[in-house]
Amino acid sequence: MASPGSPGGEGDGRERRGTGGWDEVLDGEAGLVAPGGEWRSALWRTAQQRFERAADRLDLAPELRERLLEPRRSLTVNFPVRRDDGTVQTFTGYRVQHTLTMGPTKGGVRYAPAVSLGECAALALWMTFKCALLELPFGGAKGGVRCDPNRLSADELERITRRYASEIFPIIGPDRDIPAPDMATGEREMAWFMDTYSQQVGHPVPEIVTGKPLVLGGTAGRKFATGLGVVYCIEAVLDHLGDDLGRQRVAVQGFGNVGAVVARELAARGATIVAVSDVSGGLVAPDGLDLPDVMSWVGEHRFLRGCPAGRAVSRTDVLETPCDILVPAALEHQLTARNVGRVDCRLVVEAANGPVTPEADERLAARGIAVVPDLLANAGGVTVSYFEWVQDQQKYSWTEDEVASRLQRQLRTGLRRVVDTAEQLDVDWRAAAHCVGIERVGEAARLRAIYP
Ligand code: NAD
Repeated sequence: MASPGSPGGEGDGRERRGTGGWDEVLDGEAGLVAPGGEWRSALWRTAQQRFERAADRLDLAPELRERLLEPRRSLTVNFPVRRDDGTVQTFTGYRVQHTLTMGPTKGGVRYAPAVSLGECAALALWMTFKCALLELPFGGAKGGVRCDPNRLSADELERITRRYASEIFPIIGPDRDIPAPDMATGEREMAWFMDTYSQQVGHPVPEIVTGKPLVLGGTAGRKFATGLGVVYCIEAVLDHLGDDLGRQRVAVQGFGNVGAVVARELAARGATIVAVSDVSGGLVAPDGLDLPDVMSWVGEHRFLRGCPAGRAVSRTDVLETPCDILVPAALEHQLTARNVGRVDCRLVVEAANGPVTPEADERLAARGIAVVPDLLANAGGVTVSYFEWVQDQQKYSWTEDEVASRLQRQLRTGLRRVVDTAEQLDVDWRAAAHCVGIERVGEAARLRAIYP
């Protein structure tokens, strides 16, 4: 059976796409991928399912459904890198551009052991609808290199970044596709990326990436923008619910670019951080962790393991710690059918991309636990990236206060759109966020029509 809404179908003479049929036969018996199955991954299935649910609710025309789902362009690159010990290792990287209709594409670059084409495709799709929800003039993109950044030296990471940047050079550009930080990448990698691109074209091009250091054309506030955006969303949602941040007990999974900022900024605004975790383990303190202490431990030791604050627990325990607000800020598919029954909170705020599986979503809804979806909750990153790109193009810098107040305004407007659409269509916030994004991109695609 073709999946609902997937183009093609039994006997219509067109190529079969999506799940089922050949996929199972070929995957099961020979580990091969069926024609049209190249995007598949667990995360792509989640993204596709969410897209189709919203498209069904909107009664989206079949033609638009077909045009809006699958990525428009993707590039897979294999490249050799010399390790510090003199050996040569081949790394695989990807860049996926989901929608070319809205402007240049925009999306992060991640370094992680599970990076795949299907993962990048799902994340690129979400970037498209996230940008549309926030009315940013971009389509979505995503890229990454499959590697374990914790086992690579700074020199090796520099060689990987520079080679990856030159491998994807043909499809990126300030008016074509603008990379940004994601998991295990940050200002340092963006500086190497910008330098590599600039060397290739022969002059400095700061606007080729966002999330750069300030002195290279970065913007005030970008480093903390995703985490701060999560905090602004939480404040706006609490205002909407008539609640107060000072009364919230919060657990945060992930203590990197995003999670550490969320924990620090929420604590600074009066919330009680009852648990945090990273890949090395977790810390729980029902009366609240001292965030400055935890931050300085991580500054010195890199990981949370061994930190004397709170009680040490496993990294998975943090997801089940009793709290008001649970903020998954690490990886995808962390709340699943297996552990969601033990989640003990009132609100889940998706700082990470795709941290809740569709099965877990249903179970949370059945228990009355609201989810602030990733499309909105972590949109602060791309919003401030947009501000950085605008400043680079104009060669004119804004102050940190200007960036922060514009970000806060933009996210509050985004939440308003989500809440209003949820009420109008009688759907949850996740479906509403998708519906707003899909309608906007669908309208643009309809008006641009089909070339030739
Ligand atoms: P990061 O690499 O800086 O941090 C990830 C954190 O998660 C680290 O502390 C790591 O130790 C921890 N972690 C990894 N595996 C874990 C596990 N099994 N249990 C608990 N902790 C674990 O990455 P980041 O940039 O903070 O990104 C986190 C999430 O936020 C990702 O889903 C990313 O796509 C999303 N996001 C990031 C940005 C951005 O601007 N960096 C923007 C939007 C969305």
